[in-house]
Amino acid sequence: MAEYDVVIIGGGPGGYVAAIRAAQLGLKTAVVEKDRLGGTCLNWGCIPTKALLFNAELVHLFRRAQEFGITCDNLQVDLAPAVDRSRQVVDRMVSGVEFLLQKNKVAVVSGSGTLKSRNEVVIEPSGDVLDAAHVVIASGGVPRTLPGIEIDGRTVITSREALELREPPASIAIIGGGPIGVEFAYLYAGYGSQVTVIEMLDHLLPQEDQEVSRMLERALKQQGIAFLTKATVRELRVSGGKAHIAVAVGDREQEVEADKALVAAGTAANSAGLGLEELGVALDRGFVQIDDRLKTNVEGVYAIGDVTGKLMLAHVASEQGVIAVEGIAGNAPPAPDYLKMPRCTYCQPQVASCGLTEAQARERGYQVRVGRFPFRANGKAMASAATDGFAKVVIDADSGEMLGWNIIGAEATALIAEAALSLATESTAADLSRTVHAHPTLSEALKEAALAAQGRSIHFWSEPSRGATA
Ligand code: FAD
Repeated sequence: MAEYDVVIIGGGPGGYVAAIRAAQLGLKTAVVEKDRLGGTCLNWGCIPTKALLFNAELVHLFRRAQEFGITCDNLQVDLAPAVDRSRQVVDRMVSGVEFLLQKNKVAVVSGSGTLKSRNEVVIEPSGDVLDAAHVVIASGGVPRTLPGIEIDGRTVITSREALELREPPASIAIIGGGPIGVEFAYLYAGYGSQVTVIEMLDHLLPQEDQEVSRMLERALKQQGIAFLTKATVRELRVSGGKAHIAVAVGDREQEVEADKALVAAGTAANSAGLGLEELGVALDRGFVQIDDRLKTNVEGVYAIGDVTGKLMLAHVASEQGVIAVEGIAGNAPPAPDYLKMPRCTYCQPQVASCGLTEAQARERGYQVRVGRFPFRANGKAMASAATDGFAKVVIDADSGEMLGWNIIGAEATALIAEAALSLATESTAADLSRTVHAHPTLSEALKEAALAAQGRSIHFWSEPSRGATA
C-alpha cells in the first residue's frame, strides 16, 4: 500500500484546489511546495495585481473627481502603500490556503519535489521520499523572456519585480500587449508614468474580438497610454540606466527609450528538473502533454495547470485539478472544455470573453447572428458614469445556441460568469432573454445583447438589420 493515494507537486491554484478536493473524496493526500502555498496566482500573479489595480482604479476616479462635484486639489498618489497593501492581501490569502489544507487534513510538505519513479517523489533538501499511488504535477510556469533580452531585475524586469516596485518609473516600455501587459500599463499610467506598450500582433489583447480590442485601444489612448502594434522588438540595450528598445513597426525602425522595460511576453512551462524526461513523460516545448482526464503518457502520473500550457489561468488550473483527482477517485467528470472557460483582463474598461469570437465562429462554418448592446444605453452604467463598453453575443443562427461572448466595460469580469453559464448549459439566446434580470444592473446588457441577436432589443434603437447581423 502506498503511503499516499495522491502526491501533488506544487501548491498553486491547481495543486492546492486538487489537494482539497482529493481529501474531500477520501484520498490520503500530500502537497509538496518549495516556496509559498498559493503559487504564482496568490503570491505574484492574480491577487497582488488585482490589489494594485484596485488602487489604480481609485486614482483614475480621483482624477475625474470634478465630474462628480468633488474637489480634490493637490492630489498626491503614492505607489508604496499600494504595494504594501497588496503584500498584506497576499499574506492573508496564503494563510487562508494553509488553514484550508490543514482543516482538510492534507499533508503539506515543504521542499522541492522530483519524481524518482512514477510512484516516488523525492523531497529536497530533506531527502525524504514520498510513496504515492498517483502523482499530480502542478508545478506551474515561469515568465517567458525573449531571445537576446536579459532580465537584470532593475532596468529590465518581469511582472515579478514590477509587483515590488515602490515608485512608479517616470517612463516604462511594456513588451507584450496581452492581459498582463495591459494591466500593468493601466496601473502605471494611473500613477503618472509615461507608458508605451509594444505588441507584435495587430491589436492590444490580440486574442480578443477585434471590436473589443479597438475600443480598449481608444480607452487606453485617452488615459495617455501609447502603444505600437505590429511592432517587433529587434534589440534591447541598457545604457545610462535606461532601456533603449529598437522596434520594427512594419518597414519602419524606431527606438523606444524608457526608465524601465517590463517584459510581459507570456509564460513558459516550469517542467525542468522534476524528473519528467527521465521518466519518459511526453513534453512539447516543455509543456506536459495530457489527455482529457489530465493523464500523462506515464501510468499514474497526471499534470494540471500552467505546466500543461492549455489555457494559462488560475481557474483553469483549479478545474483541471478537480477533474484529475475526481478521475483518481474513480469518478467520471466531464472533460475540461477550455473554449468555454472565461478569460479576463482587469484594466478599466475591463475585458472578458468566453467561447468563440465572431470571426472564429464564422471560420468554423457557423451561420452566425450577432447581438450587441452598448453600456451607454444601460441605466446602471449611466448612473455610475461607466458608459464605455458593450456586451456582444455570437449565436448559431440555426439553433439559437450561444457560441461566444465578448464584454468590455465596467464589471465585465464579473458579468462573464453568466455568459460562461449560458455556454456551459448550451442555452439559447431565447433562454437568456427570458430570464428576468434585476434593474438597474449592468447584467441587463447581456439580456439585451441576447435580445438583439434575435432582432428584438428593447432598450436600444437600431435598424433591424443592424441589431442582429447575420
Ligand atoms: P502556479 O500558481 O505557478 O503554482 C505552481 C507552484 O508549484 C508554485 O508555488 C511553485 O513554487 C511550486 N513548485 C514548482 N516546482 C516545484 C517543485 N519541484 N517542488 C515543489 N513545488 C514546486 N490568472 C488568472 O486566472 N487571473 C488573473 O488575473 C491572473 N493574473 C496574473 C497576473 C500575473 C502578473 C501573472 C504572472 C499571472 C497571472 N495569472 C492570472 C495566471 C495565473 O497566475 C496562473 O495561471 C496560475 O497561477 C497557474 O496555477 P498553477 O497551479 O498551474 O501554477
